[in-house]
Amino acid sequence: MDLPTLAIAALGGTVSMQPRNFGEGVIPTISGDTLLDAVPELKTLARINVETPGLHPSASLSFDFLLRVLCWANDQVENGATAVVITQGTDTLEETAAFFHHLWSHEAPLILTGAMRSANQAGADGPANLLDACRVALSQSSRCRGVQVVINGQVHHASVVRKSDSLALHAFTSPMVGPTGILLEGQVRYFHGPIKRQLLPLPQQTTQQVALLESTLSADTLVLEKIVELGYDGLVIAGFGAGHVSEHWAEAIAKIATKIPVIIATRTGSGPTAQASYGFIGSEMDLIRRGALMAGFLCPRKARILLWLLIGCQRLEELQSFLDEG
Ligand code: ASP
Repeated sequence: MDLPTLAIAALGGTVSMQPRNFGEGVIPTISGDTLLDAVPELKTLARINVETPGLHPSASLSFDFLLRVLCWANDQVENGATAVVITQGTDTLEETAAFFHHLWSHEAPLILTGAMRSANQAGADGPANLLDACRVALSQSSRCRGVQVVINGQVHHASVVRKSDSLALHAFTSPMVGPTGILLEGQVRYFHGPIKRQLLPLPQQTTQQVALLESTLSADTLVLEKIVELGYDGLVIAGFGAGHVSEHWAEAIAKIATKIPVIIATRTGSGPTAQASYGFIGSEMDLIRRGALMAGFLCPRKARILLWLLIGCQRLEELQSFLDEG
């Protein structure tokens, strides 16, 4: 039988981790080839091209590295791969997913997965997640759905997925909307249709810096006031509630927003920012009046990724329309 070609890239993370010596902490050491050994069934589903572009804890993945992985994935699809699967650490998976979501232009699925238990732990979830990810990637019904995260038997859309638990197997959620599908007896079953998305080209510039600061009770403005002077090109605030900050922060933000784009998101972990509900100093209405933009449904981290990409593509004038799409 003529099997489809599936491209898999291993970037590290817990799925690739084990201790070097008994009793030591786990570190990323397991290459893509070795990951596949734990899932023999994969060979019956597809011809696999596996690469290990680097083995990193996901906290240390960089935008430049991700752009190289994206170029590799683009080449794979252009050379006939039916789909691409990327394994990586879960700590930043919601951010890499958002990054690829804006840049992945193919009908072919791009699926991200990882694991919450390292390869040496009893009940390691890596092999099952990898098999599920490949099944979803190879399914005809996954085409034209952009970038998705497959983990713990669920499929989450890249634009909304979050890591909302530090260690649990069910660490990933899609607040407000829920998973877009599940794995049912080895097949993907979607609950929702594909979502519309605005794509961006590869950024020509990658040196821009976007800061993300969280509003906290009785916080000072020492760092906030230095943001422009420090050379940042954009600022995201993880604000209180529906997108609020203190009076002191509101004054500082007004000055910053005359120089660089400022997005206000919510630090709550679920729900959108408001637009026209509260009128106190530091409220969303006040911040909009002072030149800030509200993130809508985008969480602070995904808002930062979007802003970084729009600056890199010189498409900042589209920021509001991307935020509206949320
Ligand atoms: N705890 C992480 C993981 O799940 C480590 C990382 O993000 O690389 O993979």
